[in-house]
Amino acid sequence: MIPKFTAKGYEFTEFATARNYIAGEWCDPLTSKDVQDVLNPRHGKAMSKVKMGGKDDVDAAVRAGEAAFKDWSQWPIRDRAQVFYKLKTLMEANLEELSWLLSHENGKLFGESKAEVEKGIECAEYGCSLPNVGAGEKLEVSRGVTCEVVYNALGVVAGVVPFNFPNMVPLWMLPQALVGGNAFILKPSERVPLSTMRLVELFGEAGLPKGVLNLVQGGQPVVEALCDHPRIKAFGFVGSTKVAKAVYGRASSHGKRALCLGGAKNHLIVVPDADVAVTADNVVASFMGCAGQRCMAASVLIAVGNVDHIIQAIVERAAKLVVGKDVGPVTTEAARKRIQGYIDGAEKAGAKVLVDGRGAKADAGGYWVGPTILDNVTPEMPAGCEEIFGPVLSIIRVPNLERAIEIENANPYGNASCIYTTSGDVARRVMESVEAGMCGVNVGVPVPREPFGFGGWNDSGFGAGNITGWDGYRFWTRQRKVTTKWSLQKDQNWMS
Ligand code: NAD
Repeated sequence: MIPKFTAKGYEFTEFATARNYIAGEWCDPLTSKDVQDVLNPRHGKAMSKVKMGGKDDVDAAVRAGEAAFKDWSQWPIRDRAQVFYKLKTLMEANLEELSWLLSHENGKLFGESKAEVEKGIECAEYGCSLPNVGAGEKLEVSRGVTCEVVYNALGVVAGVVPFNFPNMVPLWMLPQALVGGNAFILKPSERVPLSTMRLVELFGEAGLPKGVLNLVQGGQPVVEALCDHPRIKAFGFVGSTKVAKAVYGRASSHGKRALCLGGAKNHLIVVPDADVAVTADNVVASFMGCAGQRCMAASVLIAVGNVDHIIQAIVERAAKLVVGKDVGPVTTEAARKRIQGYIDGAEKAGAKVLVDGRGAKADAGGYWVGPTILDNVTPEMPAGCEEIFGPVLSIIRVPNLERAIEIENANPYGNASCIYTTSGDVARRVMESVEAGMCGVNVGVPVPREPFGFGGWNDSGFGAGNITGWDGYRFWTRQRKVTTKWSLQKDQNWMS
């Protein structure tokens, strides 16, 4: 489907048009004529097109999923997991190609893309392990009577993913959902459909039967059709808070189970006893990695007391970064303007620009913003409380730890929170008090590695539990409780 990858380096490459994949066939949308450009953010040029699907394509995908589900759900779990062993091997063999493709459509640096694909491989590995951890629970509750929990597939389920991790985020959902025996409809971001298409091709090569995984391209109309479809049993979503909240409500109103992860405004608290080099390296990597377009990226640094020596080290490191080489572009021209607006607004409101990424340039036509550090930001400024989703660090100064925790907890988001300190006591106090689902102690991007579950609190996540790890398996399956009397006993009890 996608032409053999040939580009080396960052030269511009054009790819085939993105289409739907239904019942194991690449196909055009049934009725929608909407076609959009897929832009390479490094050059601002169209590298492909995407044919946007509609409601009738969702219907077709549901029918294909239902047909495939009949057989797939009957495969032993060990056989279903075998697909992930093969997928992992195929992803490793195609690591370079997957990483370059991702880099082209998303704009990430090659190293960042490779790290994403490697994290996707780790998620696939978790799928391999599910038969061992997912054996169910059994207990003899009375003499000769057992109760057992069996994990059953739900049927046809759906997942919608954002632009920033088109390889990894689908793999947050697919191992648990597919090894659990479901058929899946995946909707990639229309901005980056190609990486997900290549992943779907590899699933086919790994032996996944036709119709078990279907791809519908598109935007809001497809997402709404997935929420509304009466025969889709569960709905997973990862994206911005505004959309996560809306689709959680919409899918739940149709009786679907839904888990929808949203945006973030992650706070890093730095106290004077923090290790300077560890803190500075971590903070810089956290706020500018993937050009700040990570839901786990540092956004606010709360400076407790006098930590000027640490801020100076952060500024020195950030100022040395070369745009285009150390920092990739942001996703669109609209995103570049939005980020610049936050910087301009904060400066106008009294913030001091310590490192200024405005006007940064690398390859012509690309959407560039350099690392930016704003000092003396207040929690009321938009740069101090809203998700910027760019390489911008806002410093809020406070006199003590209590005020730092108060500011952090007043923010509606609750994805990640980090503390930089060499004091165990301080670390523990922060970890026990902050309103965040994922916490780091001297770690700037505290993504829980498999088998731990990924998920934020408050406005960063709607629905119960985490999307990865064991919670993910529970989300994509239903639990049947079976009580068995193994022998006809003489002695009677209430269970007889
Ligand atoms: P987005 O919300 O704009 O889009 C996400 C998905 O929803 C896409 O597939 C898109 O086509 C679809 N969509 C967009 N608008 C819609 C609408 N009005 N109705 C229905 N569907 C719609 O997000 P994005 O810009 O692709 O990704 C960036 C956002 O995702 C950031 O806010 C980031 O924090 C968040 N994110 C969160 C996590 C997490 O785990 N919490 C992980 C990655 C990204």
